[in-house]
Amino acid sequence: MTSPSSVTPLVFVTGGVVSSLGKGIAAASLAAILEARGLTVTMMKLDPYINVDPGTMSPFQHGEVYVTDDGAETDLDLGHYERFINVRLSGRNSITTGKIYEAVIRKERRGDYLGATVQVIPHITDEIKRCIDAATQGFDVGLVEIGGTVGDIESLPFLEAIRQIRTDRGPDKAMFMHLTLVPYIAAAGELKTKPTQHSVKELRSIGIQPDVLLCRSEQPLPDGERRKIASFTNVSEKAVISAVDLDNIHKIPMWLHAQGLDQIVVERLRLDGKAAASADLSEWLAVVDAAEHPIDEVTIAVVGKYVDHKDAYKSVGEALKHGGIRQRTRVNLKWIESQDIERDGAAKALGRVDGILVPGGFGDRGFEGKVLVAQYAREQGIPYFGICYGMQAAVVDVARHLAGLEGANSTENDRQTPHPVIGLITEWRTSSGEVEKRDEKSDLGGTMRLGLQEQRLKPGTKARELYGRGVVGERHRHRYEFNNRYRTQLEDAGLVISAKSMDDLLVEMIELPDHPWFIACQAHPEFLSTPRGGHPLFIGFVRAAREHKVNEGSAGGKLLKEASA
Ligand code: GLN
Repeated sequence: MTSPSSVTPLVFVTGGVVSSLGKGIAAASLAAILEARGLTVTMMKLDPYINVDPGTMSPFQHGEVYVTDDGAETDLDLGHYERFINVRLSGRNSITTGKIYEAVIRKERRGDYLGATVQVIPHITDEIKRCIDAATQGFDVGLVEIGGTVGDIESLPFLEAIRQIRTDRGPDKAMFMHLTLVPYIAAAGELKTKPTQHSVKELRSIGIQPDVLLCRSEQPLPDGERRKIASFTNVSEKAVISAVDLDNIHKIPMWLHAQGLDQIVVERLRLDGKAAASADLSEWLAVVDAAEHPIDEVTIAVVGKYVDHKDAYKSVGEALKHGGIRQRTRVNLKWIESQDIERDGAAKALGRVDGILVPGGFGDRGFEGKVLVAQYAREQGIPYFGICYGMQAAVVDVARHLAGLEGANSTENDRQTPHPVIGLITEWRTSSGEVEKRDEKSDLGGTMRLGLQEQRLKPGTKARELYGRGVVGERHRHRYEFNNRYRTQLEDAGLVISAKSMDDLLVEMIELPDHPWFIACQAHPEFLSTPRGGHPLFIGFVRAAREHKVNEGSAGGKLLKEASA
């Protein structure tokens, strides 16, 4: 057990009434303000589902799988966290019921419980507490978000664990922030506080009295409603915070700060000694300002297979917008289903876009559409950014149409292909130097090249110029690789290999020199892009899209010319 003085004060974030209220972004925004007051902040997510991690879950069900440096496949809320605060998270920051039970059952089998009957309380709750401690130790403050909605059966052990933490540590080491919905009923012309009252009642019935309420509503919460909610829920009036719908998520830190949320946390957790008196939100103001006063705009097509699920490519969409923020350019996204390209051809959907991005993906459905897209972008001179599967599709296009390798494919889609330009490698060295092995029969969970790995960029390439450095680290999540047997043939056909793994064995990036901007990478750079910093590849891509627009002489292009004149 940690000694009381080294215990990290925690803010637990729960949600009520309905899901999808934006708990992750609200929590991340509070974390951003606390960081802006000079505190070191970390965040973590506790998910009630039984999957050990979201790695095996369909993006249709759960949105994107977010990957951390250490290769953990985590909930997409970790993406929000990393985009809002300056801390790199790891697998420790994303816990699920499955992970907790797996650990407890392993200990039980090992005999660690010395013959005791293993139960939800105390064994599961103790394991949850241990994980929270491990992930938050050493920071001035930790924000811990509980997935799901209060009242769900699955989240009870997590809620019980955080209730105990508050009792164990005392009120100045743990506090509860609860997010609810205050709906507007048009027929009555009224905001309704009843769902909030009930949700707090539910929380109190399991022993948790919230300290702060964040009330989501379409309009700012009027004082009358605020007072009513406060009196029914035993939350002080100033801690009933209005979380109004905003058009830009990057405004949320300012909005919450204006209502004094960070000060409530600082006082309650006795962080006054460590926290700066005021919050320096200038970087966030600059992000919002750039978005609100663009000098240009571009339309980028994202061609994938899960485009109907708005969270499936969350980080890609965000990274594109960040690329625009850096140059005051609004990025309009056009989501295109790759199977539509197979049916209708590429020109129909892509004729009027300024840039094309093909993101990661798995399985053969829609892959041929991605190859068509890469070919179209290559032949028409439209900026092309391929990520993971998007790089593999580009390699297949170059093999088939420039190197004359008929029937070239990835073995993921065609085991019998005469030219397996992308294939499964069965053995490679991890960043820690261990040899990992995989084959076609390996379990789907945990058999991928995962996490941050360094790569060396080739001097003189566009990629090298964009990064401005010779060695960079990017996060991976894939099984298949560029087949080295085809390196020379594809290079002879015009493909430039712009980055390789540090041991020279794996192709990491490719580009086409005789094209305005055709770059593709095996890793997922979208996971390292932030609104404040952007990412060199996304910034470069958006810039290329703007230039493409100028060259095409469109209306937006003229705007750009005037702005830079
Ligand atoms: N399906 C491909 C592979 O496993 C690409 C994966 C991805 O795009 N993340 O290698």
